[in-house]
Amino acid sequence: MIKKALSSKRLFTGLLCLTMAMVLALGTAFSSANESNSGMQNRAVASSTAEAALKATATTTKTPKYIFMFIGDGMAAAQVNLAQIYKGNNKHNQISLKELSFQDFEAVGYQTTHDATSFAPDSASTATSLSSGFKTWSGTIGLKPVGNKSGNKPENVNSSNIPQTIAERLKAEKGMKVGIISTVTINHATPAAFYAHVPSRNDYYDIAMQMAKSNFDYFGGGTINQPTGPKKDQKDAYEVMKQNGYTIAKTKKDILALNSKSGKVYAITPVVQDSGAMPYAIDNKAGDLTLADFVKKGIDVLDNEKGFFMMTESGKIDWAGHANDAKANIGDVLAFDNAIQVAINFANKHPDETLIIVTGDHETGGMTIGQATTGYDTAFELLDHQKMSYVAFDNLINEMKAKNPKLSFNKVLSVITENFGLVNETTGDISRKGEPSYMTLELSDREMSKLKTAFAETMAEEPTDNEETDLLYGGYNPLSVTLTHILNNKAGIGWASYSHTGVPVPVYATGAGAELFNGAYENTDVYNKLVKITDLK
Ligand SMILES: [Zn+2]
Repeated sequence: MIKKALSSKRLFTGLLCLTMAMVLALGTAFSSANESNSGMQNRAVASSTAEAALKATATTTKTPKYIFMFIGDGMAAAQVNLAQIYKGNNKHNQISLKELSFQDFEAVGYQTTHDATSFAPDSASTATSLSSGFKTWSGTIGLKPVGNKSGNKPENVNSSNIPQTIAERLKAEKGMKVGIISTVTINHATPAAFYAHVPSRNDYYDIAMQMAKSNFDYFGGGTINQPTGPKKDQKDAYEVMKQNGYTIAKTKKDILALNSKSGKVYAITPVVQDSGAMPYAIDNKAGDLTLADFVKKGIDVLDNEKGFFMMTESGKIDWAGHANDAKANIGDVLAFDNAIQVAINFANKHPDETLIIVTGDHETGGMTIGQATTGYDTAFELLDHQKMSYVAFDNLINEMKAKNPKLSFNKVLSVITENFGLVNETTGDISRKGEPSYMTLELSDREMSKLKTAFAETMAEEPTDNEETDLLYGGYNPLSVTLTHILNNKAGIGWASYSHTGVPVPVYATGAGAELFNGAYENTDVYNKLVKITDLK
């Protein structure tokens, strides 16, 4: 149904172009009610004046009243494609992809993501580029770099001339309401880049204070990191929010009761998993609020006659990328897709006045489809056997370890089989009879030995800290990260890093002004295009 609605929108845009061409070519006005017939009959004339028509369309685009900006943190083309493959069919020799909601959007571009420090940028600087249109140091939020000494310190940024973000500008200059949503803490780098200006992303308390002063209308999702400051001796940020007029809703009932008469609100996830964030989508229990729920509620709260700007970040696509956990990564991309579908449903009710942009800030993990041990094969359905994220598995192992400090590998192996499907080669059954061994759930001798080493490392009182363990485990629980590596590799998914990489990121757009997002450009141009579309001076 959605697809139909969107393709008819695309058809409408196309016909609008043809109509423009007719007007320009013949110099006569005609009724737009007959666009369809006139357009069809005059295709030849239209193509000869396509350039003029395009120009006319660009300059007559209606300013969007409702703007949704979705940022998949750490989501580049590979992450989108991975979710498509997993949602599709990966039975050997029966390959098909399943499209995500936003892949049908009429405009697609790609943005390059380097910052003032590096081609492997961080979230603070890249989100600043998207929200404010300039490159800054890795780790800096909303302030311009000074000099040539990289470093997110007060002396390296210009704190006297504070640039305004697109969200701040739309609120101040257009009276639009603003909503900021994130699955991770709401004073984390990406959401902060829309309301805060600090030398370092680690200035969490300062960011929270700027959030409280932002006067933005809706915050939703994760909690506040360090609400009483790094030394826990400052005034509670939640109290400051309340003093500044925010209603804080932290139960499902209170959140679902919010509406356009609720005033300024902060809707906090009732379920927290790690570092103050919402759980990974694959760890959600039935009935838990999802990112889609926070977007739905955001629309309820923000809807008003002057329109709104809503930025929604899926922050744990990035965290799963850092941890090299493909299943958790896919789960959060699919949950992100569901949240985008909420905006698409809204756009279908408000055609021609809604703009939806979906992009990422950078890639995380150096994820690839295909890797050394599987060669030209993929077996994504093996991921079905992973039942929980690496975080949930860490917790499970830690509980087992606390109960029994002399835990044996064999005991853990049965828990591994239960939650990752992986089985001992000599005792397990072959999941894909007739397939090459690397595409089955059976652990080879090499994989078994890796697991045993990782388990010993996980159980050790003093973990080994050297170049080898850094490369093998990246600072994560050795057993969990080895398990996701083994399962991901068997499926044909590779990882090059525990950090961000510098590959370009796709941009998808639909609705009013979407055509501006076609092409290849710098991440800073996302801001510039938004300024142009919304007629900010
Ligand atoms: Zn990021």
